[in-house]
Amino acid sequence: MLIFQSLTKSDLADALLPLSTAKEERDLRTLTDESEREALLLKIGKKKRKQAEMRAKQLFHWVYQRYVTDYDQMTDIAKEIRAWLKDNVKIFRLEESYSKQSEDGTYKFLWKLNDTKTIESVIIPAALKEKVGEEVMSTLEDGKRYSGIEVEKAGLDRELDTDSWARLTACISSQVGCAMACKFCLTGVQGLDRSLEVHEVVTQVHELRMRAPITNIVFMGMGEPLHNVKNIAKACQILLDEDGMNFSKRKVTVSTSGLVPAIAELYEQTDVSLAISLNASTDEQRSQIMPVNKRWPIAELLAACRKVPLGGHRRITFEYVMLRDFNDTLEDAKRVAQMLRGIPSKVNLIPFNEHSGADFKRPKDDTVLKFQRYLLSQGYTTTVRISRGRDILAACGQLRSLFGTARGTEKHRDAPQLAP
Ligand code: SAH
Ligand code: SF4
Repeated sequence: MLIFQSLTKSDLADALLPLSTAKEERDLRTLTDESEREALLLKIGKKKRKQAEMRAKQLFHWVYQRYVTDYDQMTDIAKEIRAWLKDNVKIFRLEESYSKQSEDGTYKFLWKLNDTKTIESVIIPAALKEKVGEEVMSTLEDGKRYSGIEVEKAGLDRELDTDSWARLTACISSQVGCAMACKFCLTGVQGLDRSLEVHEVVTQVHELRMRAPITNIVFMGMGEPLHNVKNIAKACQILLDEDGMNFSKRKVTVSTSGLVPAIAELYEQTDVSLAISLNASTDEQRSQIMPVNKRWPIAELLAACRKVPLGGHRRITFEYVMLRDFNDTLEDAKRVAQMLRGIPSKVNLIPFNEHSGADFKRPKDDTVLKFQRYLLSQGYTTTVRISRGRDILAACGQLRSLFGTARGTEKHRDAPQLAP
């Protein structure tokens, strides 16, 4: 049995090809001239392929644009084809085992996979529509506005009435757990269970889109997407298909801790936006918190970034988790500004989200501000990520821990340790 959400439109057309027919096939029987037969066979082949492609397109529309998951409702697909599809191509659904909305509108979902493992996705609303055009920066924890607008408390209700939001970002998972073992990350502490299949990645977005008009996708949930690059690249191809969910390449962002060879591999197969979890300003510092840096140090990572075929006005996002008294000084900011010179980039500062799996602390607000101001002064677009969804544990990997479904949960069974 094939799974619908694991197939690109062209894969689906391949599967449908044996069901295609062409009336010219009848003429074959009477043709004896070899070259005429060949020409007709070629014509028949083309016609059948076109028919299969047409059907694949129709099916993509039904499933991804009209959210129909029952073949019987696809009235413009012939009955025999529907019967075949029912027996051969399953439309996958993720079972929602938990979902909760936080006060600020962040909406978190925990999905149960077929092998009873769980993954999470989060919907992050940003910028009220009427505020679009104004600069959207951030509000720090103390509620002080320091730039742009203050993101207001959401008026979202359970039905995700999302009309007032300009952007609804789906933050999705690429693996169950993660093998990269970053010291500050709860998912990293848990270790890797397994990578997600293409359909499990695509269906996270599909399920979310059945509930809300998602505009952006970031691979910033659980897992290292480039440690699962084949499946993630294929999932991106499906997400970008114009007859399917039709996301623009600017609105799908793959975030990586820096698996250097997989960056080029990703761009050989698809074209999406890239975020790099930089998180440090020297190799020594980075290697202490991100083991991947020992294999692929900063210079190699940045060299790979310079080779990314960005085109247009796209920029690479550099994420920088700020850890108190570790990587948060003005000297760090200076080194970051220096190393990113010449790369079309923007910086996203993420004040550390404290949890019981790591001893790091979140820096003081004015330390974050100083860091940001320096980078701004050097011409880098620099935002500070508001830590959203804390009341429902929207930070990396934390919800899953609470439910005790992750590995190594003994350690965090008393988690979550919510920020004050
Ligand atoms: N594995 C990928 C994507 C998932 S992590 C990557 O590392 O890029 C998404 C982002 O969350 C990364 O930038 C990571 O550095 C950050 N992150 C992880 N744990 C965090 C925490 N406790 N507080 C703040 N940011 C965290
Ligand atoms: Fe994995 Fe990313 Fe967490 Fe590192 S920060 S452990 S790569 S999920």
